[in-house]
Parts: sequence; C-alpha cells; structure tokens
Amino acid sequence: MANNATKIETGADYIASLRNRKLKIFLLGELIDEPIDHPIIRPSINAVAATYDLAQSNPDIATALSPFTGERVNRFLHIAQSPEDLINQNKMQRRLGQLTGTCFQRCVGMDALNSLFSVTYEIDEQHSTNYHKLLKDFIGMTQSKGYVIGGAMTDVKGDRSKAPHEQADQDMYLHVTKRTEAGVYVTGAKAHQTVCIISHWLLVMPTIRLGEADKDFALVGAIPVDADGITYIYGRQSCDTRSADGEIDAGNAQFAGQEAMIIFDNVFIPQDKIFMNGEYDFAAMLVERFTCYHRRSYVCKSGVGDVLIGAAATVAEYNGVERASHIKDKLVEMTHLNETIYSTGIAASYQASKTRSGAYLADEMLANVCKHHVTKMPYELSRLAQDLAGGLMVTLPSEADMKHPEAGPLIKKYLQGRADIPTESRVRILRLIENMTLGRNAVGYLTESMHGAGSPQAQRIQIGRAMQLEYKKQLAQALAGIPTETAAVLEASIENYFGRVFAVKSPESTK
Ligand code: SF4
Ligand code: FE
Repeated sequence: MANNATKIETGADYIASLRNRKLKIFLLGELIDEPIDHPIIRPSINAVAATYDLAQSNPDIATALSPFTGERVNRFLHIAQSPEDLINQNKMQRRLGQLTGTCFQRCVGMDALNSLFSVTYEIDEQHSTNYHKLLKDFIGMTQSKGYVIGGAMTDVKGDRSKAPHEQADQDMYLHVTKRTEAGVYVTGAKAHQTVCIISHWLLVMPTIRLGEADKDFALVGAIPVDADGITYIYGRQSCDTRSADGEIDAGNAQFAGQEAMIIFDNVFIPQDKIFMNGEYDFAAMLVERFTCYHRRSYVCKSGVGDVLIGAAATVAEYNGVERASHIKDKLVEMTHLNETIYSTGIAASYQASKTRSGAYLADEMLANVCKHHVTKMPYELSRLAQDLAGGLMVTLPSEADMKHPEAGPLIKKYLQGRADIPTESRVRILRLIENMTLGRNAVGYLTESMHGAGSPQAQRIQIGRAMQLEYKKQLAQALAGIPTETAAVLEASIENYFGRVFAVKSPESTK
C-alpha cells in the first residue's frame, strides 16, 4: 500500500497517504487516475480528513487509550472498553456532523471492528479457531498506522426471496471461490459502500443470517483497498456535479459523503487476515451486533441537524422574520426532533453491556429506536428548514450569473433581504439548505438515514422481538386484578426487564 510507512496523524497526513495508489475507479463513464484531485471525490476525502483533525484538536473525545498498543489512538480504531467509550463515540460523531454537515464515513469501520471483536471471541470458543488473536493483531496494526477501515457488509443480494446458495448467479453474495494453504479467493460485490475508495483496508463481512449450505458465503476478511482484482464504480449523488461548478452553487463546497460499488474478482485474502471462514452459524450474530453499534452511530445526524437548524435560523434572520413566534416555534420543533435522535443514541451507549470478549456492546432496543427515529426525523427537520427557507432556495440564479457583469448587479439588488446582510450571504445559506435537503448532502442526511444500517422495517422487526410484550401484559393484568399469572412469573419477568434496561445482564445472555 502506497505512502503508508509512517503513522497517519493529521488530515494532511491522511490526504497524502491516498496519493499514487493504483485503484481502478469508474466515475461518470471514465477511469479516474487520481481520486484526490477529482472535484466530485475530494469533498468526501475532506470529510474523512476532519476525523483526523478532530483527534488532534480534541483528543479527549476523538482518541482513546488502546489496550493493544498502549498508546492513544484515533477513536474510530478503538475497541470500546466501557460504556463511556461508546458515549464518547457518540459525542465525537455529533461533533463531526456539526463540523462537516455530512457523513464523515468512518463509523462503519469502527462498528465493524467492535462487533467482530466479540464475535471472533465467541467463534473461537465454539469452534476452537484462532480468529480473535488474528483480529487483535490486525487492530493493533491499523491503530499503530492510523488507517481508515471501510466496513463492507451489504451484498447486492440478487433475488431477495432466495438464500445466497440458491441464487441463479452465486456472485450476488461475496463468496469463497478457492481455498489454498495460503488463504482464500473471493468473488462478488458490495453495494453502497461508504468511504471504500478512500480507506486503506476493507473488512468484508456477510450481510444476512446463513445456513449450512451457505458455508462459502460465511467469510470475514481484511483486504487492502488496492488489492488485485478490485473494481470500484462510484455512485452518483444528487447534484454531485455542483462540486465542479463553483463554490456557492455547491452549498457545502468543502464536505460530502461517498458511496461506491466494490466488485471483487477472485481477490486473495491471506490466512492471517481471515476472521471467519465457514462458521455460518455466527453470521447472524455478527450482523446483529454490527447493526446494534451502527444504529446508534446514527447520532451523527444530530450533528448534521445542528447545522440545518443553524441554517434555518440564519435565513430567518436574513429575511428579518426571526422574531415571529411561529418561526421560533419551528426552530424549537426542529431542536426537539434533533435532540430526540441524540438522546436515544447516547442512551443506547450508556446502557451498554460487556460481552465475553471484554468489549462493550450498546443496548439493542435503544439502538434500534435511535435508528428508527433517524428514518423519520431528518425528513421533518428538512421540511421545516425548507419552510423557513422559502421558495427562493430552488429558484436562485447560478453563481456564474451572480458573477456576470450585467446579471450580477441585478441579482444583488433584487435578492437583497435585510439591508445590512449582503445578498451573497443570503444566497450562500439558502444553497447550504438546498445541499442538505435536496442536494449532495441530502444523500447522507435523508436517504442514507432511511436505509443505512438497515431500512425501517429491519428496526421494527428487532423492536418487535425485544419489546417484552408478555412481561408488559403481566404488569397490566396484575394491576387489573386478573388472577392469570403467578407472582413468581411476574418476578422472573421483572428480572428480565431490569436485565435489559439496566445492563446488568451477564455477557452470556446477550445472544
Ligand atoms: Fe458515520 Fe453517520 Fe456516515 Fe454512518 S452515516 S458512517 S454513522 S457519519
Ligand atoms: Fe451508514
């Protein structure tokens, strides 16, 4: 891997580490030579660079003491040793959302490492394998180098009614094509992959519960981003070419997210980078633990929401209507929604429990409730922001017209709001709201909020599984004086309830 001899500490180090890598990337029908310099890709690189810079400026939140290296490492590479570690992840995520107004992309890798940490421990216990030690070595190496990890879970899935081995084309799920003494070869594709092109290592993982016939699909491994046999096809984002059109029209010229499809054509993974190889009975546990971490990682959207609330309040001020009671009320409503997302996410971290590996896992119910809020509330926040912005947001002239010697002065005169606010400032804040609710960063703030870490129905299934209806029925029946349940049953249910809510459950009971 090019340019990674020393530890990557700063955003500038990170950007330098990406240069001169030989990746095969298609974007808008062309092969891209150097992604760093591409105007559409660069804002997503800047967003990841912000995760390094925050570690420099705010090490309390964005770094942690690693038990593997004995040094402080970037929190995105740290395994949670306590509920506080998970809470600090959430604080870091909110802060980065505030600083970038977009998806800063590193949480997938963090959540993949954390879920694999406990799952490999438990695979080893059951199958006498050696994955946990190999994973710890890998984590220690990535921490000492300061790498970005791209977690790659979502297969393209083909016919959703069929299991991986039943697909007409087996490549619909990443799978092992050949096993040798040295390692395995894998073929398939992963879709919607955040950060992948600008990470250093990819962690491939199964995406669904697997059965015995799906053994070849039960594969977890680490692959360098520039390994032979990988092709990336960059995803289009709404208004992505605005990033090449000029600073004002982009809305948020500096930062954006990134998604791509990764195609693996017989890509080799050596034995020491394989962390699951055929143990299909642990695929569901991995998916559930990963989503448990990742669904409360979506507090990132509360940081992005802070920016949107700030933009809505600014435009109200620029229009001279900030004192109107209905404007204030809309800002209060936006804040209420935004803080609701944050509350459930951070509560899921606070109520974490210890797994047998020693790593802490967030509360499943609250993590799912957090993510379920995220599938709805950013849409309402966006509706309110657009309400406060007014229709001008979508009828504004272009930056080129603003700079035109004849059209420019006309725009300046007729789009003036309050006399003391430059027209350009008014245009800029409207473009930011457009960017976040309709443009490039709406991809992350809205549709990714809907489908990332699982679509709404996936959370409803898990909330349904964990809602303890029997216990709640007993509560009601006891108070209503219905003699259907014995006190002993009720007592047992109470223990169950407090076991979840107060995280005193034994690690063995987590699955
Ligand atoms: Fe992190 Fe949020 Fe982006 Fe997911 S959507 S990687 S949680 S910033
Ligand atoms: Fe995500």
